[in-house]
Amino acid sequence: MNTPLAPSLHSRAFGAYLGLAVGDALGATVEFMLPQEIRLQYGTHREIVGGGWLKLKAGRVTDDTEMSLALGRALLAGGGWDARAAADSFVDWLKSRPIDVGNTCRRGIRRYMLDGSLSGPPCEGDAGNGAAMRNLPLVLATLHDGDAFRQQTLEQAHLTHHHPLSDAGTLALGEMTRVLLLGGDAAGCRPAVDALLAAQPKFRFDPYPGRASGYIIDTLQTVLHQFFNTRSFEALLVDTVNCGEDADTTGAIAGMLGGALYGADAIPRRWIARLDAHIVAEIRLQVDGLLRLAGFSRLAG
Ligand code: MN
Ligand code: MN
Repeated sequence: MNTPLAPSLHSRAFGAYLGLAVGDALGATVEFMLPQEIRLQYGTHREIVGGGWLKLKAGRVTDDTEMSLALGRALLAGGGWDARAAADSFVDWLKSRPIDVGNTCRRGIRRYMLDGSLSGPPCEGDAGNGAAMRNLPLVLATLHDGDAFRQQTLEQAHLTHHHPLSDAGTLALGEMTRVLLLGGDAAGCRPAVDALLAAQPKFRFDPYPGRASGYIIDTLQTVLHQFFNTRSFEALLVDTVNCGEDADTTGAIAGMLGGALYGADAIPRRWIARLDAHIVAEIRLQVDGLLRLAGFSRLAG
């Protein structure tokens, strides 16, 4: 039998990754809608039904989950971080004709394809949430090594996004996720959040400003507000995606934090049952492999 820590860590890690996919699939239905439009059409949106502007099949995930899986594949194939391997994996993903690609992600991947560079110059237009939404595999693979987490996260982010707000938001989300995966609670995430607000006061989310766009500030304000003001995985995701706008991405990030806090068993069965089975299977394999990379060899599997 495992030690008491083992099921908890695995449940939190699996919960974080599965939560990311569930939030993506739930939120995609109402992406780019405003809260009042969601209320008119759905009342409260709380089921994975597909549709939305992408006309998705129910349970289909989008770029948020797919880019995470692409990053995880590169980490697993190389036995750890290699920026070029990650970039190549993003290229493979872009060539697979994904159902959706963010503009900044597409521009960064194309730049790499053209000149092989692993980072663009700092760019005002890079303050979107695209680097933050896909970083979970790195958080898992570096769970025991904070310095590696920070260095590799910045390299990962700069493949497509090179902006101090994207960097700060991506690092803070990763720190929060690390705290939760290692057994912390919401209060344990406060130091990471306070450090973010001290360094970049624009992220202040109390009182909640009410925007949930793909701008990293809006995205994190929405996710952090809901994370600290809900008491279950389901409430966190429902309240987050009903803020509309970039709802699949706020849903994905909220699902990552919520799964890491509440564990996989807290994710509603009806949502997991809706997800594409091959996505769930790949997430399960990646979680085991990434935890093994982090040094949890006895606990994974
Ligand atoms: Mn998406
Ligand atoms: Mn999105």
